[in-house]
Formats: sequence, C-alpha cells, structure tokens
Amino acid sequence: MKTAYTKVPFLAEIRDEPIRKPGPNEVMVRVRACGVCGTDVHIARKIAHDWIAVGHEVVGEIADLGQGVTRFKYGDKVIVENSSFCGVCENCKNDRVDLCLNMYNMDSQPGAAEYITMRENALYQFDGLPFAHAAIAEPLTVALNVIGVAEIPLNSTVCVMGPGPIGLMAVKLAKLAGAKTVILVGNSHSTARLAVGKELGADDVVLADKVNVVDYMKETYPKGMDRVIVTSPPKTLLEAIKMANFGAIIGFIGIDVGGEEKVTFDVNEIHFKRLQLRASHAVPNTMFPIALDLLKRKVIDPARIVTHIFPLDKTQEALDMAGNNKAEVVKVVIEC
Ligand SMILES: [Zn+2]
Ligand SMILES: [Zn+2]
Repeated sequence: MKTAYTKVPFLAEIRDEPIRKPGPNEVMVRVRACGVCGTDVHIARKIAHDWIAVGHEVVGEIADLGQGVTRFKYGDKVIVENSSFCGVCENCKNDRVDLCLNMYNMDSQPGAAEYITMRENALYQFDGLPFAHAAIAEPLTVALNVIGVAEIPLNSTVCVMGPGPIGLMAVKLAKLAGAKTVILVGNSHSTARLAVGKELGADDVVLADKVNVVDYMKETYPKGMDRVIVTSPPKTLLEAIKMANFGAIIGFIGIDVGGEEKVTFDVNEIHFKRLQLRASHAVPNTMFPIALDLLKRKVIDPARIVTHIFPLDKTQEALDMAGNNKAEVVKVVIEC
C-alpha cells in the first residue's frame, strides 16, 4: 500500500509498505481522506530532520475485521481518533480520561496512506458527510477543546488569534458558547480564511500586519478581552496577555521550535490582572460526536473549510499548497 512521509525542507515521499492485517479487536480501515494539519506543515518546514509519517486527521471505511470485533461491519464509515484514552490507567479511573497516562496513538502509522489498522475502540462511526468533509471533524475537536478550556462566559468579549481552520472554527464555537463579540486576528494575506471567519461570526477582523494589535484592541475595546484564544504562533501570547481583561482566561494551543518556543512575559501583569493561561492539547482526541453533528448540520459548513483536495500521490503538492498559499487555502485534504 502507498503511504506518505515528510521531512525538512518541505519534502514528501510516497512509500510502498506492507498492509498490516488486523489482530484481535483490531480493524483495518481503507483510508479515504486525511486532512493536512498545521502540525504537518510545521513538521515539513521545521521539525522533521528524519522522515516522519504524514497525517493524523483520518477517515475511511472498514475493510477488514480482526477476531472478536462486533461493533463494525465491512464498509462502515469511520473516524480514526488520532489519540485515544485507555480507560484503565490511574487517571482514567479517577475520572480524568483527558489526562490518560497510557494513550493509544495510531501506533505511529501514517494517516495519509491507503490503509491503517487500529484498535476498534479508537474508531467512531459516522454517516451523512463526504469523507473529505468528515476529515475536518478532527481539527474541530481541537477547536472544541480550546473553547472548552477557556470557559467562555455568556455575553463576553472574545479574541481569537490566528485564522487557521482551528481558529476559524473557534470563532463559531465561541459564539455558540455565548460570546457577544468575537474579534478575529489574522493578517492581510489570509484572504480566504478571513472571509470564512466573517461568515462564521467574527464581528471584527484585525490585520496584524497592518495595525499594532495591542494598540488597536486597547482603543477599540478598552475593557479588554474576557477571553483570548491563541491559535497563532506562541510568541503572540504576549499580545494576548496585554489585551486581556481583569480576570481573563487565555486558552492557548501551539508549539514551536528553534528558539521560537521561548516566550518572556511580565509576571506582574499575570499577577495583578489575575490572568489564567490554560493549555489546550486535544490529546486524547474526544468529542467527535459533537464535531460530526456540527458539520452535518452545517453549523460549521465543511464545504467552506475544505478548499483544496489532492490525491495521495500528490502529497508534495498538498503540503506546498497548505504551507504556502495563504490567499486561497483554508484547509487542504488528501484523498487516499
Ligand atoms: Zn491536526
Ligand atoms: Zn488511561
């Protein structure tokens, strides 16, 4: 079967690898679509000095059943959880499955591949969505997670920094959670993304390459932000801290390398404004049922998020498009 790998600088390689037959309680999935995540782009651009499997936003259909599998049948459409809690470790048993100590992570198999073999309890059945659209259920669970950690209050003012797919979906979720005003921060090249942000409910769009974001926010929203959702590069946390209102929560999602992961901030500001900085990491990956329902009902229209589709053989082009075409791309999906 074909599988996709990537490494720095923005290289992709299609390999031929053996198909793994499902063992007891495992299922083989014929992968039909795999989203290209910002993390995949990051890996291709900066992180992977050796080849790393592409893709973790995987959907497909059941192609083979291991011994003892009763929940699925051939042809069922399924979401693959890129990370699942075990349900039996100390934290899981103490009602904190989000802090599972023994997560199951796709056994490091590429998501961008013809087949993937998974434990059956790491799959969730769906219908009513094309595969390429169902592939964004995974980034939507990430957006649900960051909105969850930020505990959006009713009638609040929320800033979402970063108009990638997760930030865009977070705009809508913030509104659904009760925000009165949502301000999206992006930059002027991200034309397609900012347009979708407005459709999803952004009341104001701030262009970080055109104005000083902190000054703009202070002038326009002098009370400050009740919540800030940071999906932009980690160094923008400094702006988030400055624009935050007294008692605000900052929901943060982001990684970086090469020195960019080091951010220095004024602790007095955190102390006196009583800010809470809360990390979101949607691992284990939960809330697929909610994500799928929101997509199916077009509360978040997947057709507006998925802008580009490439076949598996064109993984190189898919990565290039996702990494370098800010004007047109919202989300790239690979069909496998
Ligand atoms: Zn992702
Ligand atoms: Zn566990």
